[in-house]
Amino acid sequence: MSLEDHAEDLASSLGVDKTEVKRDLENLVSYSVPLEEAKDSLRRKYSEGSDGGGTPTSRDVADVTTEDSSVNATVTVLTAGTRSIRYQGSDHVIHEGELADGTGKISYTAWEDFDLEPGETVTIGNAGVREWEGEPELNLGENTSVAREDDSLDVPYDVGGEASLVELEPGDRGVTVEARVMEVEKKIIDGRDGETEILSGVLADETARLPFTDWDPHPELTESASVGLGDLYVREFRGAPSVNVSEFSTVEPLDREVAVGEGAPRLAVREAIESGGLFDVELVGNVIAVRDGSGLIQRCPRCGRLVRNGQCRSHGAVEGEDDLRVKAVLDDGTGTVTAILDDEITAEIYGGGVEAAKEHARDEMDQEAVADAIRETLVGREFVVRGSLSVDEYGANLNARSFAGTSDDPAARASDLLAEVRT
Ligand SMILES: [Zn+2]
Repeated sequence: MSLEDHAEDLASSLGVDKTEVKRDLENLVSYSVPLEEAKDSLRRKYSEGSDGGGTPTSRDVADVTTEDSSVNATVTVLTAGTRSIRYQGSDHVIHEGELADGTGKISYTAWEDFDLEPGETVTIGNAGVREWEGEPELNLGENTSVAREDDSLDVPYDVGGEASLVELEPGDRGVTVEARVMEVEKKIIDGRDGETEILSGVLADETARLPFTDWDPHPELTESASVGLGDLYVREFRGAPSVNVSEFSTVEPLDREVAVGEGAPRLAVREAIESGGLFDVELVGNVIAVRDGSGLIQRCPRCGRLVRNGQCRSHGAVEGEDDLRVKAVLDDGTGTVTAILDDEITAEIYGGGVEAAKEHARDEMDQEAVADAIRETLVGREFVVRGSLSVDEYGANLNARSFAGTSDDPAARASDLLAEVRT
């Protein structure tokens, strides 16, 4: 298919002039934007600025597709989040969340304030449709109308965005939680308006622990405070969900203490990987291999990356700094992850620190001697590992906070199992 054909296809599906689309497409491609990405960005451009090129079609939510240029729908507002974004150089307050009818739910972004409230039922006229994370999303702009309905719909979803921490996923908006602040610290970041103070820490409830960032520091977020938080959004940070508190969020101290779970949820490896990343999880499996780059390693003093043969991938020839680390492949029969053990855990397994490891390597005249000794200790044995799981193009990596052998005594194992069944 030629660029011309792509332009023609796109123009007819968007209901806009082909010459203009072709010019934009050529322009993007000339800047080495991949074709599919260029087409997506034009779909967004033309559907946001859509002046009602076609007549909107009335749709059930489940039937809305990205082929629709604009739709009418009667829906219940599930969540209404508020966020400030910088778009083409200026700040806009946008409203976003989810809408539903009896057939399904769909996310939305409102570029104007329609004052949507969770729980109300509205008929939306002439909403644009664009693709967002592979799914259709409704865009409510200046040509969209919102009419309140007296009769409510029967929708099979929870209204209001109340969630426990374990339920949160990147992309969630307008979320409400009750949690305890486990850790919090002030940080100065180089934000879009220069140096800005933010808060960064960890929230917990009975179900999970998650990192959070408060972009507009709320004084109520102090260590061990139990708080109700409203209008939050969830982003992905290092492969796991992260809670974002903004200037639009509500933060209220609670007059009771939010219960916090001690342990991390224990999941099968496959289940954990399928979740896309978890800030705090416990996995149990056999170490089937200790990967290269384990044991006594050298790190670049500038970026901390592994130095091989005196070379950092980013900084060239550097004087590497000695460190200890293990990358252990953990297998539980459902899948594998790489458990990454830091210097402290590694020293415990190895039975000595960096100095002992260097001496060992010198004696054997082989740096790999340290990794070999660790391999001998770990491979073929079962371990419980707790830490943060990230799943991305580098694979599934579990940054361990704790690492312990399961009991080798079958009787003890059986009674552990019984105890688990009972609780
Ligand atoms: Zn480097």
